[in-house]
Formats: sequence, structure tokens, C-alpha cells
Amino acid sequence: MKVLLLLFTITVASAIKRFDGEQVLRIFPKDERQLQELVKLEMTEARLDFWKRPGGLSRPVDVRVPKDLLTHMKKLLGNTGIQYTVMIDDLQQLINNQTSTLKGDIFDEYNNYEELQNFAHEYPSLTTLFNIGSTYEGRDIKAIRVGAPGTNKVAVFLEGQIHSREWIVSATLLYNIKFLLEDYGLVEHITELMNKVDFYFVPVTNPDGYIYTMNHVSYRFICAKGGSSNYPCADTYHGPRAFSEVETQSLSEWVKAKGQNIKAYLAVHSYSQLWMSPYGWTSEVPKDYDDLQSLAKKAVSALAAVHGTKFDHGSIPRLLYIASGGSIDWAYNVAGIKYSYAIELRDTGRYGFILPADQIEPSAEEFYAALKVVAEHIAKEFST
Ligand SMILES: [Zn+2]
Repeated sequence: MKVLLLLFTITVASAIKRFDGEQVLRIFPKDERQLQELVKLEMTEARLDFWKRPGGLSRPVDVRVPKDLLTHMKKLLGNTGIQYTVMIDDLQQLINNQTSTLKGDIFDEYNNYEELQNFAHEYPSLTTLFNIGSTYEGRDIKAIRVGAPGTNKVAVFLEGQIHSREWIVSATLLYNIKFLLEDYGLVEHITELMNKVDFYFVPVTNPDGYIYTMNHVSYRFICAKGGSSNYPCADTYHGPRAFSEVETQSLSEWVKAKGQNIKAYLAVHSYSQLWMSPYGWTSEVPKDYDDLQSLAKKAVSALAAVHGTKFDHGSIPRLLYIASGGSIDWAYNVAGIKYSYAIELRDTGRYGFILPADQIEPSAEEFYAALKVVAEHIAKEFST
């Protein structure tokens, strides 16, 4: 079977890129042979940008196709009998529609990294702002503890936005910090919860990529450290990923050293609307599988009750494919954190990574409902 042969061009990540006429295709492999075709394409054609990788037959594959490859790509899919639909018709147009709203208040629009510090300073008695490590380019990775003062508290750890184009993640987490802080003292069960539970938020785990994307028009597609690699868009893979880079290393060291009270570890990503449990590296299930699933089920049903948004829950291989070295496998196995989950926020593909800013608030509200369920559960199971 033929594979696209357009590999002789060296792709250089340019700072400002436009996406005129580019499309995102949603592809439906129907058997193992078609799946392997797509896997081969991903390996060999660096200019195809896989938003959702080929992994199994149960989930579609989303891929951004440069304009000059479109005809060829569609022909190839047609020749091999692989079904697809056009998910985004003109990417630049979609981006244009949104960059026009990319201004203003942090909680109305996609936010800015520097705002994190200011925000924590507004509630000094309920927050501690600290650096959890530093990045490849030497930036601090900001973390915020949110909770009432106290000892022997259990904690939820939220790892946000390792992949820079998943902007909805840090926006959602920032909103959740705000919700907790504003509800304390006003909403009785939140006050009680924050007396028992600390929340460690790392809204942006990879600020290099985040600031880079913030400062460029082509924000959500430019890669964190692009330029030298054949695969400059390494964060194509938006599933759970190994602690291999400096940023994730910093996080893992902190969690290991100081995280004995952490009973839930939420690695938050987008998009797909999934609430996934370990393991990722094998289809075997861990000993806490039933407890993990039972809490996941409660979390996603609380989430759905807010705006009707449906999240699937299950182990990573059941929902996606076997993905080794993910942070939640590490959190569960090495750090010993029982309730470790990888979460993919909105949407299921209508906008993908170009989620409109008016979905930030509903995304945050529904996530808050799920977060409360998780926090309440660990308080009940582990508090002494
Ligand atoms: Zn991701």
C-alpha cells in the first residue's frame, strides 16, 4: 500500500504561521489494516499534524492537513477506502474568528501566564504560591496551594497544560482556583472541604510553550521548542506522556518529596471528554481499579449534571490505546497516589484545540463539580 511521499521538505517551525485553506480531517479506520495505514502515515509524514493519533478502532483519528497536501491526502484515503469527514473546513478562518476575541479579562478569555501570580496574591490567607521547578528555558513553573491553613490535610494535585495548545486546560484550572477561593466562607460544604483538603494547582506545567504560543498569532500550533526536530510539533501526541522532559521531571521530584498527603492526581489535558484511570502501559488493571472506576463514574456524572457534557470513563487502553510511561502510571505506581486520573476536557472534536473562549466558563463549572466529588471522596477515605 502506498504511503504519502512528501518527506523531502525539511519543515522548519516558523514563528508566525498561517493556516489558510488547511483542514482538519476526522478519519474512521474500520479495520486493523486501515489503522496500520494511518500509523504508517503518522510515522512517515511529518507535515501531517495528528490532533488525535491512530490508536484503536473505537476512536476516530483527527489530523490537520496542510493545504498543498489536501488533494493528495483525500485521494489516498479514497483509494484505500478509509472513511473520513472534514472536521474543520478552514483552520485560519476559525482562528481568525477567535483571535478577534482574544483580549480582555483573564476569566473571559484565554488567559496569560503572568496573571497567575497576581491572582494568588489576592487571597494570601488561603493560598501559597510557589515554584515547583523550572523549565528548559529557565522559567519558573508556578504552583498554587489552595486551602485553609491546617495540618494533616489530604491533597489533590492538578497537573495542567503540559501541552501548550491545550489552552482550555489552564483556563479551566484558573477558574477552579477562583471558584474555591470565592466559595470559601460563603458555601458551607466548600469551606469544610477546604479545611480538610489542599488543592495543588499547576495550571501551566510547560510555560515555555505557553508563553511562546501566547505571543504569536499562530498560537495554538506552534511548538514549544520547535526548530531542530523532524517532528517540531511533538505535542501532537496529547495523551498521557512520560516524565521525560525537564518540566515533568521537576514536577515528579516535588510530588515524590513532598506529596505524601496527595491522594488524588489529576493530569488535565484536552480534548476528547474522557476521564481515564491507570494503567496506560498495559491492558491489565491495577488492584484499585474498581475504586478508581467507581469514583470516576461519580465524577463524570456530577460533571454531566452541570451542562449535560458527557465524559466517558475507563482505563486508558479501553478508551484510547496502550500508552506507556504516562504521568498517571507514574503517580499511581511510583508516587503511590491511589486516585490518579488523566482527563481530557472539551470538546469531542467540533473545534478540537480551537475551542471558542465562550466555552471556558462552562468547562470550568462542570470540571468544578467533578473536582469537588474527588476532593470529598479523598477527604472521607483518607482523613484521620
Ligand atoms: Zn495533552
